Amino acid sequence: MNENTYPVGAVIVDENQNIIATGRNKVHPQQDATAHAEIDAIRNAGNSIFKAKINREKFTIYTSLEPCPMCTGGILFANIKKVVWILNDDIGFGGFNKIKDARIFDKRFREVEAIEEPCEDLKEKQMDLMSKWLTNSNNVVNLRKAAIRE
Ligand SMILES: [Zn+2]
Repeated sequence: MNENTYPVGAVIVDENQNIIATGRNKVHPQQDATAHAEIDAIRNAGNSIFKAKINREKFTIYTSLEPCPMCTGGILFANIKKVVWILNDDIGFGGFNKIKDARIFDKRFREVEAIEEPCEDLKEKQMDLMSKWLTNSNNVVNLRKAAIRE
């Protein structure tokens, strides 16, 4: 939140819960629309992703918000086998369930376990962060209002 961007973070762990990589949303600080937390974590995991593919290791990604369509694609490409998210994103750009429910890439999705909103306290914290984001000056609604005033 201090970076004035969407409050989303992600962590990739291996089967023994060792942290492989972390990521956080950097859309506004980097002015990069693709710099989502999950993509950041996958990028930061570097060649661990490919080693895991070769060795058939099962990585898990934890993220604070349901992955968007881009990140869902990234997770499938990265061969991550388990996705855990803290808060569903039905009103935003949550895409994991929508793409899965479209029954495309069925074979890929069958290999990925998804766990939604496992912790009520973390869910409430994420909801609080998301509601604070609404008043942030970098929120696109507020950027538009500022542009009109100029
Ligand atoms: Zn995303």
